[in-house]
Amino acid sequence: MKEVYSMSFTVKKEVLGFAPYEAGLSIDEIKEKYNLEQVIKLASNENPLGVSPKVLKVLQEKANYAFRYPQSGAPKLAKKIADYHKVSSSRVVLGNGSDEVIDLLIRVMASPNVHNIVAFDPCFSIYCTQAKLCNVEMRRTPLNNDFSFDFESLYNLIDDKTVVVFLTNPDNPSGYTVKRDEIIQFANRLPKNCLLVVDEAYADFADEECRCDSLLNTQKNIAILRTFSKCYGLAGLRVGYGIFPDEIADYMCRVRLPFALNILAEEAALAALEDKEFYEKTKKITAIGRKFLTDELTKLGCKVCPSQSNFLMVEVPFSGKALFEFLLEKGIILRSLASYGLPNSLRISVGLEEENALLIKYIMEFQGAL
Ligand SMILES: *Cc1c(COP(=O)(O)O)cnc(C)c1O
Repeated sequence: MKEVYSMSFTVKKEVLGFAPYEAGLSIDEIKEKYNLEQVIKLASNENPLGVSPKVLKVLQEKANYAFRYPQSGAPKLAKKIADYHKVSSSRVVLGNGSDEVIDLLIRVMASPNVHNIVAFDPCFSIYCTQAKLCNVEMRRTPLNNDFSFDFESLYNLIDDKTVVVFLTNPDNPSGYTVKRDEIIQFANRLPKNCLLVVDEAYADFADEECRCDSLLNTQKNIAILRTFSKCYGLAGLRVGYGIFPDEIADYMCRVRLPFALNILAEEAALAALEDKEFYEKTKKITAIGRKFLTDELTKLGCKVCPSQSNFLMVEVPFSGKALFEFLLEKGIILRSLASYGLPNSLRISVGLEEENALLIKYIMEFQGAL
């Protein structure tokens, strides 16, 4: 609800229409409300395996250093990420989650009331909120009915004042994913001053031919965003990064706050990159769980969007709201897509084998009671 204050202070006009970010429901909230012992959260695309044991060990060891300032810019981690993607480390910009990198990018590249930013509708809300805060025009065009990308209409939004095009691949909330070749074709049509930013928050779960990091040394107008929040299981520590053309990265690093990454976040991310076993296990159980949920939900009459991510967008053949609330009472939290104008669709993060099975069991129970 928008409060009307009668106050003597000033806020800039861009913030007047803002509502607080609506995150997924928290486990504690639901436990208390429905008096439950155990709650399964399949709402925020977190890693169902939890924290890697190797990361946990490093966090315990490094907790002693919490009184120290971190090294500005987290250079050790930037170097490791640069090596991983085979780019120079001057191009890596780290942030307190990729949310912060998105915010920084918009503030560095786009001038208020001059430039514009282009994306699909729906898109990740942070692109829009941060553009709005900066008074930068956001231009959007709808996805196709099957949630695939209409590159032609995206292209038609672009003019000589377009500084950034955001593309989320795999997309959220649909899971729809395009191949790299299509992205190259699109990038090649862009005006010279326009940067294509491919948000690859879920690329770890996608086929190799859909990832764009291998283009970074040849395709000069492409940047990627990645995060440790999903496949690496560090959502609560807040580590994300972008790899940008050199001059953009340089300016971003000049204006960012010096200690965006805390000392434990940097150490945890370094350890997470080392723990290949945990990473591979996460990808494996995600692929298996995704197939299981797709098959079972389809059998129950749901329409499951094909996904290369760690979540599924599912249209149910009954009231999405009623199912959502039924599952909450049982202790399973999903993400409602009502705010996307999709009242009968839910986004389901792939969980552990037993969590996925329990979800299906409850949906059958719900259906049986109709
Ligand atoms: C989860 C997600 C991110 C990552 O956000 P963090 O701030 O790194 O946790 C970025 N983009 C999209 C589309 C996401 O779904």
